Amino acid sequence: LVVVEHINKYFGDLHVLKDISLTVNRGEVVVIIGPSGGGKSTLCRSINRLEPIDNGVIKVDGAELPKEGRELARLRADVGMVFQSFNLFAHKTILENVTLGPIKVRKVAKPEAEKHAMELLDRVGIASQAQKYPAQLSGGQQQRAAIARSLAMKPKVMLFDEPTSALDPEMVNEVLDVMTGLAREGMTMIVVTHEMGFARRAAQKVVFMADGQIVEENTPDEFFTNARTDRAKDFLSKIL
Ligand code: ATP
Ligand code: MG
Repeated sequence: LVVVEHINKYFGDLHVLKDISLTVNRGEVVVIIGPSGGGKSTLCRSINRLEPIDNGVIKVDGAELPKEGRELARLRADVGMVFQSFNLFAHKTILENVTLGPIKVRKVAKPEAEKHAMELLDRVGIASQAQKYPAQLSGGQQQRAAIARSLAMKPKVMLFDEPTSALDPEMVNEVLDVMTGLAREGMTMIVVTHEMGFARRAAQKVVFMADGQIVEENTPDEFFTNARTDRAKDFLSKIL
């Protein structure tokens, strides 16, 4: 469903993505893990063209994302993205946050968008918060709202970039539970996280990235107990 072929990306002289290739099949959950500055966020941002790449090919469901224009907005809607900082619109209610994209980009009628939004808010457990503003919600609730907002666009794939790392510990699980539920329902997901419990529970594949390269691809069980590369072993010895 997502095909990344030989992409390279520079920030000035800094080579941040070095010939990265990655395939994510439909319904697959891939966890990306690795040291700070390794290029994990840049890879995610490249996949939905928040960040231009210098060369290589990125395809989502067979279509190469255009560099700009209307077509990009539509294709980008196929790729949901959830960030560490929830990025909700502060001056809109939770319900408005969730309906905005479908109404503007997908041209869904407001009543229908609201009905679907309420179903999604219910699914992530915050239907009762629909009329509140983001600042009135806890971090975990805001992140679940951000997930609902992405889902409202009916994306083909969801990208999560450290979705729980800005949360207080007691709120981490409520977000991971929503993500695990999505994975079980067959959502294709690319998740940057160091939450090993989630990786073991939900992922089919772990990709270890360091210094702009994919150093190792493995199953979660093998990766966490018996990593193949010294670089990965070294990293794991620091976080475990
Ligand atoms: P972390 O675990 O800290 O989130 P990461 O693996 O997500 O790290 P990236 O954020 O992708 O790493 O950054 C990769 C490299 O690119 C780093 O060296 C970073 O300093 C650099 N970088 C990222 N964004 C920019 C930018 N907009 N301009 C210049 N350099 C950048
Ligand atoms: Mg990052």
